[in-house]
Amino acid sequence: MVNLHGKTALITGSTSGIGLGVAQVLAQAGANIVLNGFGDIDGARESIRALGAKVVHHPADMRRADEIEAMFALAREQCGGVDILVNNAGIQHVSPVEDFPVQKWDDIIAINLSSGFHTTRLALPSMRAANWGRIVNIASVHGLVGSAGKSAYVAAKHGLVGLTKVTALETAATGITCNAICPGFVLTPLVAAQIDTIAQRDGITADAAQARLLSDKQPSGQFVTPEQLGNLVLMLCSPFGDQVRGAAWAMDGGWTAQ
Ligand code: NAD
Repeated sequence: MVNLHGKTALITGSTSGIGLGVAQVLAQAGANIVLNGFGDIDGARESIRALGAKVVHHPADMRRADEIEAMFALAREQCGGVDILVNNAGIQHVSPVEDFPVQKWDDIIAINLSSGFHTTRLALPSMRAANWGRIVNIASVHGLVGSAGKSAYVAAKHGLVGLTKVTALETAATGITCNAICPGFVLTPLVAAQIDTIAQRDGITADAAQARLLSDKQPSGQFVTPEQLGNLVLMLCSPFGDQVRGAAWAMDGGWTAQ
């Protein structure tokens, strides 16, 4: 069992999907949790509290450096700082490059990439002082390969894998590690929207659209789960993860083995 009692984990975009799943696994291991994100904040907070963990929420918009700074100030004040940082907040938009809405491009780069720079620069000083820290960037298979229609997302996720490598090198001789996890399809609201689009476009049921989405890319034919991803984050937070540095670790049902 990995024991995270006394540690504080801040997970961006953790009111839903993968972020909430990661927060629940880290809470089960004893960490204090700083939640972030929109939507069902009370439900997310309650699910962490039910696991016996201390939980606070900050609604910082990941597009805004000043709000990210305020979230770190709250984490310092309420929990004494951030030991484990999981950069997870992300959005998607699918459109050919020439039609890609400029505002969507800016938002995806800000949320999926630049927020990870801001959180990392704010987390590192106290991690260095403690000579321990874990930074886990939830990238994507799209940090390793491309897909048509996802220019901003693929650019941001490749950038996040690059930021991961540089952060890992700059902390290589310390007790701080930085790694990326690259999930394939996970059944969350982000992917449910893509399934709806396929169902409408091809005039098929949601079940058939789901099977089509998976069979196109993911050889296992099964979704990755937030719980599986949470347990990979947990391993990286454990002593077994001490020498995993700068990795882009795929958990993708075989997607990038092709
Ligand atoms: P989701 O839509 O279920 O959750 C996204 C979270 O981000 C929510 O908590 C939402 O409130 C938050 N969020 C959105 N915009 C925000 C903003 N401006 N500021 C702060 N928080 C914001 O999505 P998910 O599928 O759980 O995705 C989580 C991460 O995993 C993303 O980075 C995504 O790119 C990545 N990912 C997802 C999949 C997948 O198949 N679902 C695959 C690979 C990678």
